[in-house]
Amino acid sequence: MPTAPGPEVRGFLSDQEGMALFDAACQAGALGPVLEIGSWCGRSTIWLAQGARAASTVVLALDHHRGSEEHQPGEMFHDPELVDAEGKVDTLQEFRRNIARAGVEDHVIPIVAGTEQVAAFLKPDLGMVFIDGGHSLAAALADWRTFGTRIVPGGILAIHDVFPDAGEGGQAPYTIWRLALASGLYEETGCTESLRTLKRLP
Ligand code: MG
Repeated sequence: MPTAPGPEVRGFLSDQEGMALFDAACQAGALGPVLEIGSWCGRSTIWLAQGARAASTVVLALDHHRGSEEHQPGEMFHDPELVDAEGKVDTLQEFRRNIARAGVEDHVIPIVAGTEQVAAFLKPDLGMVFIDGGHSLAAALADWRTFGTRIVPGGILAIHDVFPDAGEGGQAPYTIWRLALASGLYEETGCTESLRTLKRLP
């Protein structure tokens, strides 16, 4: 059984959603590494890494660690404790500390970059992709378009913050979830709170 990260690990993922990510990583990790898009302070990474460990693989934890739009100073999800000496949002130090404390460093490879920056250089056959990066439509579309086709058959695409009701949350993750279904590349396999999982068809 995985260990849930404590409340000191900042993040926007419930333990139920974390458990679903763990299960997905255990399963899909057997097919290839897990790519996480948007690690923030490592809460979801810790769940994924425990699944990756069980599957003898790793999590490629992609995040520029400068926060999304909503984390910037003056925005709704800004955290004044997560800024560097120059006043820029910086979650890397907190991420490293949390990953180390959770004992999963051997199963996490942090990639400090944005999706479009690594797109041309990161081409493994991925067992799983977890999209939880920027929630603007442009950012979510770029994540889907870049990595949505790089999952092996039988692998899993997971998307966080999918809210079919616009009153509950932004619509970008929901939009890419619908695009994934409409692509014919995936079938729907799970729904845990706002976390949706899809399986890549043969
Ligand atoms: Mg999220």
